[in-house]
Amino acid sequence: MGSYYKHKKKETIDVSYSFRCEQCMKESGPLTAVISGMEAEINSNYKTLDDKKQSSLNEMAHANLVSAVKEAYSNAVEKHIFVKAFKDECPHCHKPQTWGLSGLKDDMFGTPIVCVILGIILGAGCYFFSGVENNLMIALAAAGICFVIGAGSLVLNILKLGNKKKQTAGVIQKNEPVIDWSSVQHILNER
Ligand SMILES: [Zn+2]
Repeated sequence: MGSYYKHKKKETIDVSYSFRCEQCMKESGPLTAVISGMEAEINSNYKTLDDKKQSSLNEMAHANLVSAVKEAYSNAVEKHIFVKAFKDECPHCHKPQTWGLSGLKDDMFGTPIVCVILGIILGAGCYFFSGVENNLMIALAAAGICFVIGAGSLVLNILKLGNKKKQTAGVIQKNEPVIDWSSVQHILNER
């Protein structure tokens, strides 16, 4: 097996938004959410990619950004879920907003599920392909570590959510952020 290089690319885009604080009633003023697509990756034997591969890496990174922007848009407009890129901390009183709960809830199982899937893949990989005598032990240990990290991140997410719920419990007037989607309209128009 020869050595190879990982070529990575990630695209991001800014979306402006603002909100009226539910806790101190002040206007946040213009804020910026940075929406980023998943990182695209291509493995190659060469340090620099040829044009064809480079453009396919660019396309992958761009497609990931398009789907992230579309997801953020449909979540916000249709389901009133605001992804975590829209920070809900008030610039004046630094308190969180009730609409910030939606993004946390939506994201709660993301990392834990990834950990469990990774655990299963790693465990199975160690068990079937390691070729050593105590492969079952190694497989269980590898899977176990992933499961523990997954459970830990779930607990952390539940704590974060509980903390934010507590901090926003006294809110009487619930608001939502006003998002200016015009800067990403060209992306929303893409198929
Ligand atoms: Zn405030």
